[in-house]
Amino acid sequence: MSATPRVIIIGAGLAGLACARHLSQAGLSCRILEASDGVGGRARTDRVDGFQLDRGFQVFLSGYPEARRILDFPALRLQPFHPGALVRYGGHFHRLSDPWRRPQDLLSTLMSPVGSFTDKLKVLRLRQDALRQRLCARAGGGMRSTRETLQAYGFSPAMQQRFFAPFLAGVFLDPTLSTPCRLFEHVWAAFSRGGIALPQDGMGAIAAQLAAALPPESIRLRASVDRLEGTSVVLASGERLVGDALVIATNDATAATLRGDPQPTPPGRDATCLYFAASTSPVSGPWLIVNGEGQGAVGTACVLSEVASTYAPSGRALISVSLSDQASAEGSAIQQAVRRQLREWFGAEVDDWRHLRTDHIRRALPPIALFPTAGAPASPRVQPGLYQCGDYCDSGTLDGALVSGRKAAEALLADS
Ligand SMILES: Cc1cc2nc3c(=O)[nH]c(=O)nc-3n(C[C@H](O)[C@H](O)[C@H](O)COP(=O)(O)OP(=O)(O)OC[C@H]3O[C@@H](n4cnc5c(N)ncnc54)[C@H](O)[C@@H]3O)c2cc1C
Repeated sequence: MSATPRVIIIGAGLAGLACARHLSQAGLSCRILEASDGVGGRARTDRVDGFQLDRGFQVFLSGYPEARRILDFPALRLQPFHPGALVRYGGHFHRLSDPWRRPQDLLSTLMSPVGSFTDKLKVLRLRQDALRQRLCARAGGGMRSTRETLQAYGFSPAMQQRFFAPFLAGVFLDPTLSTPCRLFEHVWAAFSRGGIALPQDGMGAIAAQLAAALPPESIRLRASVDRLEGTSVVLASGERLVGDALVIATNDATAATLRGDPQPTPPGRDATCLYFAASTSPVSGPWLIVNGEGQGAVGTACVLSEVASTYAPSGRALISVSLSDQASAEGSAIQQAVRRQLREWFGAEVDDWRHLRTDHIRRALPPIALFPTAGAPASPRVQPGLYQCGDYCDSGTLDGALVSGRKAAEALLADS
């Protein structure tokens, strides 16, 4: 490599931005080539009619360890959810709160029909075990699925069906709960260590913060990389750019194409989110609403403007609804099914809600098959001069994307 090597990073998602951050801090010159018109990749926010719409419902876990290390939390002005969830079951909403952080809900949590008294105590144990990284050990190893882990802890079928299944299906976009225990442990520890929150300016603020810290001219937008040739890239326009090293920071499927993998990539996990505008909020407080009824189109819902008032114009409410079954997300029928169910929950006012947008996001999360159960993550080194990062290289989360970006940078620095 030359004295100040020029690294080309393909993709300005959180992984690519984190990689650029570490390399820039080490004195390397970086250029990020981003195919789209903005930074953030899957974590972007649009402004529509005064509403702040993230591209699909997602949340930030303030307990993510890498995020804690590299992000400026106060500048993100994180707006917390209540710790726990509002579970819809038996025609009513029930509070299921973390008693450590919301002791005022202790009685309603213990009395709720969402699970037994023993289940609620087991949640505390799950919390402690996740924090001490012994959840998988107790469950029989990191190769266990999340479903098997919950069974190993002895949670009642009611607790699994009414809370864990819909809640974790929403987190992992995996209704079968086949996500490996080690990912479950990682995410549950982050839930337990911190809280769920939204940046005041939307999820896109995370990438914006990382991008703002890079040297000027580091990012080139609307620059889609078509193929790699050694340590050069060829853009879709035909332009060729020469680097000393390349980092692929795209999602898993594009990375496989750019690496020239002969095998097709397994399907990822899709997400569908519907946004509605209302004149009043149907619930009070920053709750994540979980459908514990075991039926219906709605998986989880949230009044985002109750979490962060910036998500809606003054005097309006913004509601997001995530589907229980992503496969069923087709056409206007799904909107009708969602409205029908929400009408049962909140009454006729739902008829007046304005549908703002439906986000159907393919490959929202990487395929579970890419996470080896034994725990060895994908190597950041592809071949000499070529590196990779992305959420699929780590935990398939925002934090995993940040970790993978750092690891790719560390590998590149070690080799240079
Ligand atoms: C609906 C939804 C909900 C989610 N919920 C959560 C959640 O609650 N908590 C959580 O932790 N995570 C969540 N995630 C996952 C999280 O958003 C991702 O793990 C993370 O954003 C991935 O970042 P990344 O940098 O690895 O990839 P990406 O964000 O996919 O970034 C890749 C970038 O590469 C660019 N690119 C692709 N091809 C090319 C090319 N040929 N040339 C140049 N550029 C290219 C893309 O445009 C993109 O900007 C959610 C994701 C979605 C979509």
